[in-house]
Amino acid sequence: MTRTTFHVGESFPVAMDGRDPLAHFRERFYIPKTKQGEDSIYMCGHSLGLQPKTAGSYIDQALQDWAQLGVEGHFHAKNPWMPYHRLLRQQTADLVGAQASEVVVMNSLTVNLHLMMVSFYRPTAQRHKILVECGAFPSDQYAVKSQILFHGLDPASSLLELAPREGESCIRDEDIESLIDREGNSIALIMLGGVNYATGQVFDMAGITRAGQCKGCVVGLDLAHAAGNIPLRLHDWGADFAVWCSYKYLNGGPGCVGGCFVHERHARSWERPRFAGWWGHNEKTRFQMGPDFHPMDGAEGWQLSNPPILALAALRASMETFSEAGLERLRAKSVLLTGYMEFLLGQELSAKFSIITPREQERRGAQLSIRLPRDGRKLCDRLTAEGLIGDWREPDTFRVAAVPLYNSYQDVYRFVRYFSAALS
Ligand SMILES: *Cc1c(COP(=O)(O)O)cnc(C)c1O
Repeated sequence: MTRTTFHVGESFPVAMDGRDPLAHFRERFYIPKTKQGEDSIYMCGHSLGLQPKTAGSYIDQALQDWAQLGVEGHFHAKNPWMPYHRLLRQQTADLVGAQASEVVVMNSLTVNLHLMMVSFYRPTAQRHKILVECGAFPSDQYAVKSQILFHGLDPASSLLELAPREGESCIRDEDIESLIDREGNSIALIMLGGVNYATGQVFDMAGITRAGQCKGCVVGLDLAHAAGNIPLRLHDWGADFAVWCSYKYLNGGPGCVGGCFVHERHARSWERPRFAGWWGHNEKTRFQMGPDFHPMDGAEGWQLSNPPILALAALRASMETFSEAGLERLRAKSVLLTGYMEFLLGQELSAKFSIITPREQERRGAQLSIRLPRDGRKLCDRLTAEGLIGDWREPDTFRVAAVPLYNSYQDVYRFVRYFSAALS
């Protein structure tokens, strides 16, 4: 990529939007409106992605099939419900860099995290720790601690937290590797976010996986803020498992079904314990309704229940948009949008706030986390009322993301203008 030079003036974003090959995708989404009926400046795709306009028709189709066919919809719907989740499989695999048999769309993120830990956190007297990032998303912290307790262990001695150095906000890659090197023999599971939800830092997932597995640790990744945001190569990196949700960058809609990756090397790990449900049973014999569980190969063997078709329908609408735009093109635009936002913020009042997200493009995704010294919450509420939507995370962080599918360079320009006006 040739380096783009950013400019401060208003003609720059107009020109960039004019030659953006992805600009037309914005029209495929509903952009929330301000009270005055204008498009709001939506910078919150890291929290809840916007609705693709096609989602309604995909859901309607499933509703109509249900109305007209009742139970027969399982086999005779336009897209039969029985294999419906497979419609999402290849696109999902492409998105996270996996083989089709390594992924499944099911449940929600925290549920999948628990299911994976049931199978992959197998503490022994010598190797019992879980390594997490300090200040991980609360649900991950609760899940991990409750798994430790479930095994009769004590989080005080079995939970190992990676913290940034004194006075720093992000964790240094070399600190992660040296901790793994030091403690690796006592670590059963390394469970890290691909992109930290608070700082927006991207971890070196390939390096961490390699370092952890060299020490005999299992490596799991939480990709809530990574899926649909940055390119992933889960199969090649060799992570043991990964989980993610689909309502953030993936635009699947509130509470939509999550995703799960299990590396091929575990596709037939029948000796590992797992919490089983009928949907994970070999589909050829599932309806013989036998008493014994015979799991399917691969990630599908961890399914519990028949999936919510209406939610999957919405996700299909979104995943098709993703495939069409292509993650590589999206990432290229994302790097520019975020770089441009950082550039503009750097021109403005930099004494009043700081950006805690790493500056290097390979160490961040779309999100910038802006630390505000005081009254940040009030400022954030005021901006939201005016139609500038980001989100506030206690105690001091304003998180914003320009999402390449539907945000424009002019959004970024307007965002920085309003934001700096509100600050001064
Ligand atoms: C968004 C997010 C969650 C949310 O979990 P759900 O089970 O989908 O409610 C969990 N972990 C991380 C890291 C997140 O970013």
